[in-house]
Amino acid sequence: MANVQVAVRVRPLSKRETKEGGRIIVEVDDKVAKIRNVKVDSRPESFGDTREKVVAFGFDYCYWSVNPEDPHYASQEVVFRDLGTEVLSGAAKGYNICLFAYGQTGSGKTYTMLGTPASVGLTPRICEGLFIREDDCASQPCSRSIKVSFLEIYNERVRDLLKQSNQNKSYTLRVREHPEMGPYVQGLSQHVVTNYQQVIQLLEAGIANRITAATHVHEASSRSHAIFTIHCTQAILQNNLPSETASKINLVDLAGSERADPSYCKDRITEGANINKSLVTLGIVISTLAQNSQVFSSCQSLSSAASSGGDSGVPSTTSGASSGGGPARRQSYIPYRDSVLTWLLKESLGGNSKTIMVATVSPAHTSYSETMSTMRYASNAKNIINKPRVNEDANV
Ligand code: ADP
Repeated sequence: MANVQVAVRVRPLSKRETKEGGRIIVEVDDKVAKIRNVKVDSRPESFGDTREKVVAFGFDYCYWSVNPEDPHYASQEVVFRDLGTEVLSGAAKGYNICLFAYGQTGSGKTYTMLGTPASVGLTPRICEGLFIREDDCASQPCSRSIKVSFLEIYNERVRDLLKQSNQNKSYTLRVREHPEMGPYVQGLSQHVVTNYQQVIQLLEAGIANRITAATHVHEASSRSHAIFTIHCTQAILQNNLPSETASKINLVDLAGSERADPSYCKDRITEGANINKSLVTLGIVISTLAQNSQVFSSCQSLSSAASSGGDSGVPSTTSGASSGGGPARRQSYIPYRDSVLTWLLKESLGGNSKTIMVATVSPAHTSYSETMSTMRYASNAKNIINKPRVNEDANV
């Protein structure tokens, strides 16, 4: 059992925010992120008094990337050292891993996942790390095969970002579910890679494909979800017996979180914005899983109290789902199949995967409600309990 690990990253004030006199209302202190809301009291009797509300959230990691001069500044390197190495070590052991970035458009999802040529982000660093480990592997009795795929989900339809022909323009791929391997995209191309340059070429080709279909650069990342998947198969000799581990790394750049907000989308119908069903369903799946995990852990603590003499101080009539403790304690149904994104990420959300979420936020007061909503969302995701296992096939 492993909880979803959650990180929050605060980006610098943008030029526009600075020009508009943006005040910084987010601060981080070790694993706590705080957000301030200063309100001027408009009642005549208050003489323009200000009231300040501070809300604090605890996370696994909080990254302050506002000002490189700051001693606590979290660079791309720092973020990789925590999260990227976690991805690499998990994959090397044979776990499935999912790392996804969530936040409003312009909050730093793509910067964190991909970065810029001058400031490389998590995905290229993880790919580089895979091949550094591959070199380590040369001295050991093991062989590895690495394949990558890259897809985009837009309007509940899937397209292959790595298909060489005109086909890549069409969103025609279908999601299916294998009884053991779980959901997958039928017909999605997988590309064997043997070195870092090959992965980067594919990654860049996929990004270029994503952008050409949009009317401008930001439109692609604000409206659609991109999933870059690395499949690693590793054959080793264990006590002179062959064994194989297979892990899948999903690196996900989600559409802007404002696409899940009906009021945002209603105002922008003319721009072609539509509410993103996958993001809305992701929210429902995360909150239902978080509730279920709480039911599960309260049942666990009750059953361990019962097995140690039942001195839980809780009347036995309320002792959880297994003894019919009432509807509030039942595990709720998780609507994975209500959207393409949640169906594809089913294993990453409450299943056989180690999962890391990076919630990206702006520090500016003008983004108060979006930042607050991202923090709440991230805080909810922290409660999800996954069941990762090593995907091992002994004596192959
Ligand atoms: P999103 O993918 O969430 O829409 P971007 O990653 O494109 O947002 O970020 C918006 C802008 O802010 C970009 O110009 C990006 O380079 C810059 N930016 C985002 N995060 C950081 C950061 N941590 N440090 C420096 N610049 C950042």
